[in-house]
Amino acid sequence: MSYRKKTCPYCSKEHKLRGPFCSKTCSNKNRRHSDETKEKIRIGAVVAQNKPEQLDATWALRTRGQLTLAAIIKKVNPQDVETDPDNLYLPPMIPHEGTLASGDLWFDVD
Ligand SMILES: [Zn+2]
Repeated sequence: MSYRKKTCPYCSKEHKLRGPFCSKTCSNKNRRHSDETKEKIRIGAVVAQNKPEQLDATWALRTRGQLTLAAIIKKVNPQDVETDPDNLYLPPMIPHEGTLASGDLWFDVD
């Protein structure tokens, strides 16, 4: 069974599918989220990215994004630069614990 021929209001493609849109992609592109919905989506993403089993993947994703942004700022094509953190030596990050004083990292001991 097929529906009457119509034109997708987003991409103007002709189709005979159910509903006004030619695809789920066009249907999603046609809607606008409220600021409240956007905030809920953002919080959901933050929670998902900070699950213990996701921390390595989150780190890799963010590092890849930072390397890509650094290339864009230097006006270099990001595809010409190594952005896979597994293929680079990256110096260890300063841990969140401890206090940095005069270039030294100090930890409280019981
Ligand atoms: Zn479409």
